[in-house]
Amino acid sequence: MQIAIASGKGGTGKTTLAVNLAVLLSEKFSGTGQKVLLADLDVEEPNSGLFLKGDLIEEQVNYRMVPDWKEDKCTLCKRCANVCEFNALAFLGISVMIFPELCHSCYACSDLCPEDALPMEKRRMGVTRRYRLNESLEFMESRIDIGVEQATPLIEQTRKYIKENYDDQWMVLLDSPPGTSCPVMEAVKDADLVLLITEPTPFGFHDLKLAMDTMGELGKKYAVVINKYGIGNDEVLHYCEQKQIPVIGKLPHLTEAAVLYSKGKNMVDTLPAIRNEIEKIYSGILKLTEDRA
Ligand code: SF4
Ligand code: SF4
Repeated sequence: MQIAIASGKGGTGKTTLAVNLAVLLSEKFSGTGQKVLLADLDVEEPNSGLFLKGDLIEEQVNYRMVPDWKEDKCTLCKRCANVCEFNALAFLGISVMIFPELCHSCYACSDLCPEDALPMEKRRMGVTRRYRLNESLEFMESRIDIGVEQATPLIEQTRKYIKENYDDQWMVLLDSPPGTSCPVMEAVKDADLVLLITEPTPFGFHDLKLAMDTMGELGKKYAVVINKYGIGNDEVLHYCEQKQIPVIGKLPHLTEAAVLYSKGKNMVDTLPAIRNEIEKIYSGILKLTEDRA
């Protein structure tokens, strides 16, 4: 089962929820054969690893394929000019120019070139690392290289890796990028349920609604978790009640939680009020996914 944790904007507690849920579940699953993988897909700023220290078990460099124009072979026939749907290739009359950051590695230009003047070549995107914390908990993070602008291809590769390598024995938690654009859509693609985390403030409510719209467009089942419950107002709760959107947890606003976060420590082992809510969130997940095909 895959559960994605997402939010309409950064800084609402995605990582707090992902890490604490992962730790609690790994304790629960210990000795049962069930396991937890927490995968940080916020590739531009993966920070779940600040809270989960383990042994590195695999490191893999990620590449994507981009055409490389070979001037000596090109006859300037212009065939490649119109095929790129992403404006990643421009025919300039006396040359062909590639914009790697816009390229979607579709191979169309390369396959169509009659002179083999656009061979696809590897471009480095980033690194994926896997860590084992104990017999029931693994952590994975993908980190984009500085200067690489497109996060989506790296998320796509990591998502595919998870799909191919983690079976039903694993509860996979995906710490998604914040926002509502392509990277988050890519990150939640395989999720059985998306947890949208928000804060009970007007800004939080605004961003939550955007995230809900995105999940609606994707046809994803989702539930809401409120972080820092106790500050702000009950607008989020009332809205969810009205729209019959499940709110499966309310993480209380505690000074101790902020202190633990700043020290890179989890909360489920020391703050009973947080543990209690994370337990409720897990029950909510099970309830909402029990009819999973
Ligand atoms: S299709 Fe090939 S040969 Fe023709 S202009 Fe493009 S790169 Fe050059
Ligand atoms: S591989 Fe596809 S996206 Fe990339 S430049 Fe060629 S046609 Fe455009």
